[in-house]
Formats: sequence, structure tokens, C-alpha cells
Amino acid sequence: MKLHEYQAKELFSAYGVPVPRGKLITNPWQAYDAAVEIGGERLVVKAQIHAGGRGKAGGVKLAHGAEEAAKLAEEMFGRVLVTPQTGPAGKKVGKILLTEAVDIEKEYYLAILVDRTAKKPAIMASAEGGVEIEQVAARSPEKIILEHGSFTGDLPPFTARKIAYGLGFTGKQAGACTKMIQNLYRLFFEKDCSLVEVNPLVLTKQGDLLAVDAKAAIDDNALARHPELRGLRDFDEEEPLEILARRYGVDYVKLDGRIGCMVNGAGLAMATMDLIKLNGGEPANFLDIKGGANKQNVINAFKLLTADERVEAVLINIFGGIVRCDMVASGILEAMKEIAVKAPIVVRIEGTNAAEGRRILKEADYPFIVADSLADAARKVVAALPGGKR
Ligand code: GDP
Ligand code: MN
Repeated sequence: MKLHEYQAKELFSAYGVPVPRGKLITNPWQAYDAAVEIGGERLVVKAQIHAGGRGKAGGVKLAHGAEEAAKLAEEMFGRVLVTPQTGPAGKKVGKILLTEAVDIEKEYYLAILVDRTAKKPAIMASAEGGVEIEQVAARSPEKIILEHGSFTGDLPPFTARKIAYGLGFTGKQAGACTKMIQNLYRLFFEKDCSLVEVNPLVLTKQGDLLAVDAKAAIDDNALARHPELRGLRDFDEEEPLEILARRYGVDYVKLDGRIGCMVNGAGLAMATMDLIKLNGGEPANFLDIKGGANKQNVINAFKLLTADERVEAVLINIFGGIVRCDMVASGILEAMKEIAVKAPIVVRIEGTNAAEGRRILKEADYPFIVADSLADAARKVVAALPGGKR
């Protein structure tokens, strides 16, 4: 679950990480009063969308005085921002954070994330902040500091200090930076984050350290033990089909291609997507109906995947270990009674009651394309795409 900047900043504050003063507004009429309340000569108007790169897309604007801040905020509401992280459709601005503007001396980068290779939390930092960190990583990897964290909420002080000095801080600022890293680490750990990112971490002209931007994501699997965080989910920012999938209890991730996939087992689903790509196609989704799926699951999953209007061909790949293939087959037919599917459907089913499952599909009114191996299925579904590969 991704958080908005304003939500992440509230968490930062609760953990003693300094952020600029700010106020969230959810409609244009609040803009002027909020700007007056924040006060000061200069303010920043910041679109709250679940994507970075807002600055370059016009989603972060500097204003002089409350009047201009209000005007800029009014103009920003309802606009669609397209950033490298939103995809071409962009995201509509429905919430805006107004903050005091800080005088920037230098911008830094700081993030805590899960290093899957090292199987540890990692702290990444760079004195080249503000810009996209991927660019720094590609151009000058030596400018990125990487340290691994512990498996308790407390990062050893020497690790935090090493990073602070690595960024070039000394004296009082090194102390402030060390404390900030330790506090963010505690936040990352205690709230079961998959990511905490501060870009830029700012050294102000007055010599203070502030988190001017804040990003955080919570591991969905840990939300059960964080009732205090559940309310932070912004349904406006989420893919409607993914919201539905959570309700159905299937793992679904929407992607950009035209081939809808329905698979049981995450590993098999990954392999299926790989094979589709290998054959020149693009999957429209990742969908794992899970090992012990029942008929209702199959029906729900099938509806979900065909609800995506970009789906022009479907690949069903079931290995019946725990799940029974005949049950899957009749689930598909049942779902198709309710929804008119026009897309060609390639089916590969193997395992428990596979022959019975294939018979059910062959006897159905719909012209299923039955494949005899996973590789064959991937080839067939790409070939079945109207208008060829893409
Ligand atoms: P992002 O583009 O979505 O990452 O949004 P950020 O919050 O990181 O803002 C983008 C850029 O705007 C920052 O890197 C800063 O250069 C600039 N910016 C943001 N807030 C301030 C501020 O308070 N003062 C000044 N001078 N610049 C700011
Ligand atoms: Mn940023």
C-alpha cells in the first residue's frame, strides 16, 4: 500500500523526523485559508498523487504569498499529471499539500528498502539528491552509499553515522543526519514498510536538515497487524480491478499487454508471463487463483481478467495439484454464462482430472483452443491475438 507524501510526512513527524510545515487541502476553496495559516513569504503547492517526478510535470509549484499559492492550487486541482511513474494515462489531482518553502542549500537522497538479494533491509543514500536516483545509479554508481540494516528496529549508531559522514556531513549536521536515519529506520521497521524514501533530504541555508519530500509504502501482507494504518489507503489512486481482486482473495496485478492470464500458483504465473513475452506477446495481467482455489474463485478470477477491456486473448494455464481441473473447467463455463467473452481462449490444463476438464471444455459451445504444453499454449495465444503480436 502506497502512501501519499502528506501521509508519509505525518508518520515522519511521529518518528521525530523533521518536515516543513504544511496543510492538506481537498478542494480549491480551502486553498487561500490554508495558505494564510501556513504563512510566510514563499509556499510550495504540491499535488498529492501516488507517483514521483511531480516537479517536472507541473505538480510542484513555488508561490510567493498566500494569494499566489491559492491561485496555483486552484489551477492544479483536477489537472491530470503525467510523470514517468504514472504511465501515459496520468493521474488526476484531487488532493494538494501546501507547505512552507524552505531555502535549499543542498539536496540529498535517502531511502530504506528491502534488498532482496542480500535478504536484508538496506539504506541507500547519495549526496546527489533531488534528481532521479536511477540516473545517478546508472551514470555514477560510486556516488551511491549502500549499507545494510539489522533485524531489529534499531539501526546500530555506527551504521547511521557512517552514512551521515559518507554524505559529507560533519559536526552538528552529522548528528542530525544520524538521528534522522535511525528514526526513519525505526519507522521502516515498526510499520512494516517496503520502502521509505526522502528525495530530496534538504540541508537548508540555515543549516537544518528537513525531509522536503516523503514517500512510503507499507507491505500489504503486514496490514493485518497495523489497524492504525489501514485507513490510509487511497482508493482513488488504486487500480479498480486490483481493489476487486483483494476482495476476491486472488493475487492480481494489472499490466499493459493484451493477453489476459489466469494461472494457479505464483511461480507458474511468472513462468507463463515469461513464455508469453518470449513468444513476442505482452501479458495484460498477473493472476494467481492460488493452489486451493474453489469454483467461486475461478468464476471471480475469470470475471476479473475479462473485465479488463484491453484483453484481446486469454491464456488459462492450470496445473491441478491441489485444485481439480474439471472444477476449473466448469468454473470457467459458469463464469462465461454471465459474461459475454469474445476473446479467443487458449487453455492448458494438466494434473488432477485433466482429461475430464478438457472434455468439459471440448463439449462446450465455445471454441476453446486447447494446448498440449505450456510452450504450445504461449505460442497459440500470441498467434490468436487479433491483428498479430504486440
Ligand atoms: P517530486 O518531483 O515528485 O519528487 O516532488 P518533490 O517534493 O521532490 O519536489 C521537486 C523539487 O521541487 C525538489 O527537488 C526541489 O528542488 C523543489 N522544491 C520542493 N520543495 C521546495 C522548497 O520548499 N523550496 C525550494 N526552494 N524548492 C523546493
Ligand atoms: Mn521528490
